[in-house]
Amino acid sequence: MKPLKHSPSLSTALYVAAATAVLVLLVNNCSASYQNAEEYDVCMVGGGAGGIGAGYALKDSGLKVCIIEREACLGGTHVNGRILELLPGSVPPFFDDLYARNNALFTFHNGATIDNMYYVSHEKGVSGSRQTMRVDRQAISKVYYEELSPAIDIKLRRLLTSAVVRKGVCKAIVVRNLLTDSEETIRAKVFIDCSGGELAKMTNGQEGTGYYWGSDGRDRFGETFYPDGTLPDRYDINFLEMTLRVRHDVNVPEDLSNVVIPQGVTATSSHGWTDNSDENCDIRLTSYHCNLSKQKFIDEGYDASYREALVNSLACWKLTKETYGQNTYSYDKPAPMLSIREGVRIICDDMLTQEDCTREVTMDDIADLASLRYIALSSWYIDIHGEQHAYAASIPTKNRGITYDMLIPRNNSNVLVGCRAFGCSHVAHAANRLTRTMLSLGNACGYAAEYFIAHGLSDVRDVDIDFVQDSVDMKGQIEKCVALY
Ligand SMILES: Cc1cc2nc3c(=O)[nH]c(=O)nc-3n(C[C@H](O)[C@H](O)[C@H](O)COP(=O)(O)OP(=O)(O)OC[C@H]3O[C@@H](n4cnc5c(N)ncnc54)[C@H](O)[C@@H]3O)c2cc1C
Repeated sequence: MKPLKHSPSLSTALYVAAATAVLVLLVNNCSASYQNAEEYDVCMVGGGAGGIGAGYALKDSGLKVCIIEREACLGGTHVNGRILELLPGSVPPFFDDLYARNNALFTFHNGATIDNMYYVSHEKGVSGSRQTMRVDRQAISKVYYEELSPAIDIKLRRLLTSAVVRKGVCKAIVVRNLLTDSEETIRAKVFIDCSGGELAKMTNGQEGTGYYWGSDGRDRFGETFYPDGTLPDRYDINFLEMTLRVRHDVNVPEDLSNVVIPQGVTATSSHGWTDNSDENCDIRLTSYHCNLSKQKFIDEGYDASYREALVNSLACWKLTKETYGQNTYSYDKPAPMLSIREGVRIICDDMLTQEDCTREVTMDDIADLASLRYIALSSWYIDIHGEQHAYAASIPTKNRGITYDMLIPRNNSNVLVGCRAFGCSHVAHAANRLTRTMLSLGNACGYAAEYFIAHGLSDVRDVDIDFVQDSVDMKGQIEKCVALY
């Protein structure tokens, strides 16, 4: 096992005691239904960008694979959160192939082409003049389903509720079937957390659970991004954002007189953009104004956030209409997922930091790939949408490598993190959270899982890094990027 680059802040003894208590609790809670579990080789929890990437890696493997997804469709944040655009960054070959088969679903902006989407300069990223790619979200979600479902069991409307963990091995997970309101248990040899950290929170123990965004001070990873003396601040996270949809339809009468405006809710920002899935609709974006305290988001998570967003989006719309006089539109619906950039991240064998983001990957690295252990590249700039945003512009970042070890929760042997909860500092996450990067992390996890099963391994750390790097064409990705830089 590769040594930890950064030592933990909790003492090991405290950690082990806490983790053991959590594990015992989970085992006790789940033992009754554990015996009747469905059996899989690989189980992905979450069908967002990471889950899609993992799915494409595994769909031709011949393994028995499933995806657990709480929503009613695949895609996660980039589909359901109505993310405006796919921002530039390197991707493994599967995404270019997916594009080639479905190019009518994508439109390019600012001189973007499928090839230069591998590149973003720091300056262009900061100034907002970078290349972007939009995608018809509903249509791509359908494509994901059609291409993955013949080989993978896609279990929609299933909510992960607990995990059975013994000695660092995730034996099974328990999910609630939201359609039948019943419980199902799923066993797998390998689990890939593509849910934004929900699974690894349960399997990796107490420290992973408490390791929230913003809980780094300047000293934790020695990052100069933070001003001198900055202490950990769990609530110093990116803004909460929500999106709502409005129609260009003046004929639908809207009676907003009874809509109550909760304290703190204000009008949405006035800019909108066309919803690719329905040209009669615009998307409106609001930051802050959904009246969710950061504490509430952190403590109660998705469900509370979503419930409040449903109420607040209508109130936002009422205020937007009044503020900007938008009488040629009527309210349609809120985004089915509230868009929140941040949640938990998981302590992994290696942690990506600000320093890693400033080390540029070059052609020389190709000769040394195995020891560098890169499985993905990424090139966004440090993009914190919070109080510290101003610092982002002054720290040039490079096309950098993300290592396999950043996907391995420190206390598990059969769990990988293939999503935005991978091992990274808060600052590094702000530069690496893009959809294309999460597609890449999931894809690498999928290939690692395939190797793990094929070779009867008991620890994901023993996966042959050459196999993963070849599978995601790490060399080809570096060559493409270097040619553009
Ligand atoms: C407001 C906002 C704006 C952004 N803007 C951009 C942008 O312009 N361009 C860009 O490239 N990226 C953007 N991003 C970042 C990018 O969209 C996300 O980081 C990326 O899509 C995350 O992918 P993921 O697979 O890690 O997670 P997600 O796509 O969120 O997928 C996680 C999936 O897991 C499911 N899930 C969660 N918990 C459970 C559970 N308990 N049981 C079962 N399923 C569960 C969720 O429903 C979801 O489908 C933005 C993000 C946000 C929030």
